Amino acid sequence: MSEIDVKLGLRKVLERIEQASLKTPQELRCKPPRLVAVTKTKPVELIVQAYEAGQRHFGENYVQELEEKSHHPLILEKCKEIKWHFIGHLQTNKINKVLATPNLYMVETVHSQKLAANLNKSWPKFGPLDSKLNVMVQINTSAEEEKSGIEPNEVVDLTKFVLNECPNLHLEGLMTIGKFGYDISNGPNPDFLTLRSCRDRVCRELGLDWKTVELSMGMSDGYEHAIELGSTNVRVGTAIFGERTKKQ
Ligand SMILES: *Cc1c(COP(=O)(O)O)cnc(C)c1O
Repeated sequence: MSEIDVKLGLRKVLERIEQASLKTPQELRCKPPRLVAVTKTKPVELIVQAYEAGQRHFGENYVQELEEKSHHPLILEKCKEIKWHFIGHLQTNKINKVLATPNLYMVETVHSQKLAANLNKSWPKFGPLDSKLNVMVQINTSAEEEKSGIEPNEVVDLTKFVLNECPNLHLEGLMTIGKFGYDISNGPNPDFLTLRSCRDRVCRELGLDWKTVELSMGMSDGYEHAIELGSTNVRVGTAIFGERTKKQ
């Protein structure tokens, strides 16, 4: 069975988030960063432990896993105020499965107009009356073929589409994964800087207040650095729950 001390892991990460946020320059500070605990491949018992230690936001990136965990009797019974983030690649034919998640809080990975349009169309069948689904637009800041997300130069078009054509969606911000293993002795992570400049462009061209457009960036390896660069939403798995064993 798992020997990992989730409570301790969570406390350490929360402390580091707080420390890092003190180093965020004033002009990039808008709200305390949110921790999304990423639980892919981890058992529901660990989710319950983290929930009982006070954590509310959880992220999953496989549709089937989100479906199973969010409907699990233990989660439904013990984690009534859990807030699920979907953070994986979403195909149009899986939309309904994600939208059927009890307590779905956000879909962080909108990567096309088609996906946005379909989420917009389907949400009223699933969500509370007159509610909006929180979404983020995913940007492939590292231009890696295996990562999904739009190119940085498409960000104005897609965010404008969500704002103007998708009344059932609420644009919460922008999200990136970025290159793994970046060495910050080389200076600020270029993926995080790119996401920030995408936000600046969106806000300038669409007349939005930058404080209303969140940045989801930073994982176990780099969340503190991401916060110092203005991240408002970090997605952390390994640093809380320990290493993942490879999926078969
Ligand atoms: C797995 C995953 C994370 C968390 O990764 P860790 O390195 O375990 O913190 C964050 N974001 C996304 C999109 C992921 O798939």
